[in-house]
Amino acid sequence: MKVYITMDAEGISGIYKLAQVIPGNSEYDYARKLMAGDINAAVAGAFDAGADAVFVNDAHNNGDNLRITDLDERVVLCSGADRPYTMAEGAQKGFDAALLIGYHARKGSKGVISHSYAYGSMVEMWLNGKVISEYELIGYMIGYYGTPVVFISGDDIVTADAKENVSGIHTVTVKECISNGAASCIHPNVTARMIRAEVKRALEEIETKQIKPMTIKEAVKIDVRYSAEAQAWKAMMAPNTERIGETIVRYHGKDYKEAYLAFVTGTGLAGTFGDDVALYNKCK
Ligand SMILES: [Zn+2]
Repeated sequence: MKVYITMDAEGISGIYKLAQVIPGNSEYDYARKLMAGDINAAVAGAFDAGADAVFVNDAHNNGDNLRITDLDERVVLCSGADRPYTMAEGAQKGFDAALLIGYHARKGSKGVISHSYAYGSMVEMWLNGKVISEYELIGYMIGYYGTPVVFISGDDIVTADAKENVSGIHTVTVKECISNGAASCIHPNVTARMIRAEVKRALEEIETKQIKPMTIKEAVKIDVRYSAEAQAWKAMMAPNTERIGETIVRYHGKDYKEAYLAFVTGTGLAGTFGDDVALYNKCK
């Protein structure tokens, strides 16, 4: 059994504010240890369940958060910023199951450091008309290659949301959201035991439970509302785009992969334009 892990940072055990997971801040090094702790717990659970190989995609920010020497030596770690599939990089190799570690709620909703994919440019995302969170954006890319997402960890908001949208998914809630910048956190040693046990259960039940990969059969539309018109304008330089509102860009695809890769390109371009907050901060 081959297991794929994609790790974000905002939903990691003990993390409760954005500054902890952005390099250059005083608590960032501490946060990296917390990230490694949750990953090692998931990896241990995977091998407990009989995995032969575990691939970890360091998917937060520039992909340089996890230090390989902090990790279980049985993993293969994917690091670095320039990844065509970004938070789903490596999934194209094909796996038996995927685990989402440290994910978070969508922008605009209650949730610890809730946001959607890109800070400063993105307001909302829809997939074929349905509002989606980042875990769904990435889950469908993993599902395109036939791999089911069987586990997610994060705060109580994202785990409840995932249970509603992914039938049969296993979850571990590592903290309860108080606000975007505050949480009641369970001790990381305790959540590590919870993650290890639940990942093991999720993988042992693959055969009996048959969790379906997140897939879309028909043509795909990913709509994104950016925070500024200038960002939507910039995003339109990506392929397969259509402007459907002053700040909304539609990414078309004959399948999910085509729409997702257009989305990644357009959203990268949009991010080169600062919204009013970024412009204001530059002038201070
Ligand atoms: Zn994220």
